[in-house]
Amino acid sequence: MIIDFHTHTFPRQLARRAIARLSDSAHIRNYSDGTPEGLKRSMNAAGIDCAVLLPVATRPAQAEDINRLAMETNAHFRETGILSFGGIHPDNTDYRTILKTLAAGGIRGIKLHPVFQETYFDDIRYLRIMECACENGLIILTHAGFDISFPGADFSAPSRIRSACRQVRPDKLVLAHMGGWGCWEEAAESLADCDVYLDTAFTLDPLRPNTDDIVCEHTALCREKFLQMARSFGTDRILFGTDSPWTDMAEALTLVRESGLSPAELDAVLSGNAARLLHLTEI
Ligand SMILES: [Zn+2]
Repeated sequence: MIIDFHTHTFPRQLARRAIARLSDSAHIRNYSDGTPEGLKRSMNAAGIDCAVLLPVATRPAQAEDINRLAMETNAHFRETGILSFGGIHPDNTDYRTILKTLAAGGIRGIKLHPVFQETYFDDIRYLRIMECACENGLIILTHAGFDISFPGADFSAPSRIRSACRQVRPDKLVLAHMGGWGCWEEAAESLADCDVYLDTAFTLDPLRPNTDDIVCEHTALCREKFLQMARSFGTDRILFGTDSPWTDMAEALTLVRESGLSPAELDAVLSGNAARLLHLTEI
């Protein structure tokens, strides 16, 4: 079973607009249409059995709708293989109730996005949410490092993540994009001794602009550095993720398969680590 720990979809009526806006601001192309059906087609084509959806609440009022949809999505997990995390915003003052409700509803974790939520990762509001998420047994997955759409925004810089880890000591914190998109040296130096998981989303993949007049193509994180980081953090803590629709799932899978990890390490990264963290056998 192959599990993709980092994917996105949008409600059907919003997908087209959301994809266009995000693709435009990040100058990257999309590889599926952003709908749940598009994700499923892409999973089938790539041979991916299970995908974790990571919705982001960019306003406090969105949390309710996001979390209702997450529960609906999860009710169909057996047919679709798609499992949604919940969303929460740092300004949700009723965060205790939200997190408790998510856990009671069988939601496995929450997604935080310090850049989109314009909040430093070691802000007291995030620390409180993380503490409460841990009390409720929830996984916390956060965007980590820079964001391609907001150059220079350091809301989730490795130093901020380290500071938050020191204060809260979350037991199930997943850092997207191998711990720090665009600042991997810093992430490798300052976070390897924190008890964190890393997802591989949008790291080995070539960055392809969404306009044809720009021809440059380079990968974000080189293979050697990827391997070095995977092994220094521990391959039992690395989770395969694609960031679909922003990468081609099949290509992302091939890149990880050909990264130089051993067959046993690959098994853990593509499947075992995520299944353990998500308690997939209990669904
Ligand atoms: Zn993402």
